[in-house]
Amino acid sequence: MAVPKKKVSPSRQGMRRSHHAHKVVASMECPNCGELKRPHHVCASCGHYDEREVVAKGEASAA
Ligand SMILES: [Zn+2]
Repeated sequence: MAVPKKKVSPSRQGMRRSHHAHKVVASMECPNCGELKRPHHVCASCGHYDEREVVAKGEASAA
């Protein structure tokens, strides 16, 4: 069995893990449907961007 030469103290272990927390993901409410969406991204639930532009969503394309 491999044995570590030096044991990491609980303090040092905590110091290392101080960087492990996840960052809060930026989010904002979609002005169209009110869902939470990421800024500068097309809304995932309604496909709107810039308050009106329909960019993508299920409906059959009527071109
Ligand atoms: Zn939306």
